[in-house]
Amino acid sequence: MECVFGIDIGGTNIKIGKFYGDELAESRRIKTDKSDVGANILGDVARVVREMRGGDEIAGIGIGVPGPVVGGVVLGAQNLGWKEFNVEEELGKFFPGVVIRVLNDANAAAVGEWAYGSGAGFSSFILMTLGTGIGGGLIVDNELVEGASGSTGEIGHIRVGYHNDRLCTCGLYDCIEQYASATGVVITANRLRVGRETILNEIEVTAKNIFDHAKLGDEVCLEVVNHMVEKLASALAAITNTVNPEVIVLGGGVSKAGKFLLDRVEKRFRELAFFSVRNTKFALAEMGNAAGMYGCAYEARKKICKLKDSALN
Ligand SMILES: [Zn+2]
Repeated sequence: MECVFGIDIGGTNIKIGKFYGDELAESRRIKTDKSDVGANILGDVARVVREMRGGDEIAGIGIGVPGPVVGGVVLGAQNLGWKEFNVEEELGKFFPGVVIRVLNDANAAAVGEWAYGSGAGFSSFILMTLGTGIGGGLIVDNELVEGASGSTGEIGHIRVGYHNDRLCTCGLYDCIEQYASATGVVITANRLRVGRETILNEIEVTAKNIFDHAKLGDEVCLEVVNHMVEKLASALAAITNTVNPEVIVLGGGVSKAGKFLLDRVEKRFRELAFFSVRNTKFALAEMGNAAGMYGCAYEARKKICKLKDSALN
């Protein structure tokens, strides 16, 4: 049979899925080997893909990498040790004749969530993933928007403060990532808990603990959540005024706080957004860690169809 692979390369793990059409037939997870500036990564991927292939023909491979991508070239992926690197060409050397589609990992997750998760049925959609950092992706008119320098989904680096207070990993200050990610809420909590009566002075300060105890009524935890919601809703209002999507989906580890977080973000968003975008829908992501694999396979199939169409015309 004909199959397509969806591969999600992360800083810790690589997830490899084999698909027949929309169906995930088999998936594997391997450790990301970051030694020698990530020189072994594509070789490791190729070995596992060949094992998983069995007797099937590989029609296409979609691969998500943690960095901005333009025309199959990643402009840099610090998490892997990669500088500018032509992933399409290098992976193609292992699989001559196979269609290869390279995309940013957060964009891939957005496609997966849009095609198979809580974005299904909408033609325009934004995913914001709240994890250790913040990433995202944008779909307009049923197409992934990647941008002139592959940076459409870099919504974690929207500036939401004006005092150069929190230095971001990107080198800029006061990016929303430093306020509304798991890392960001911990920074806020460690500032607000000083000299106050709060459970946070007795337990480990983690995003999960902050949200769990905010739900139980700890005042400092609630303040931390409100502070995060204010930044998040402001950024989402700005994005929505520009893009005007049908639905905003929140994903990533922090979104496990669930409706408690979603309802607060939605309420504040409605107060801050321009009147004509106030009814934008909100939802929680459904695909979890598999979204990237699904999105990569989907985009690989889409590229195969486009190439067939253009060959016919
Ligand atoms: Zn930043």
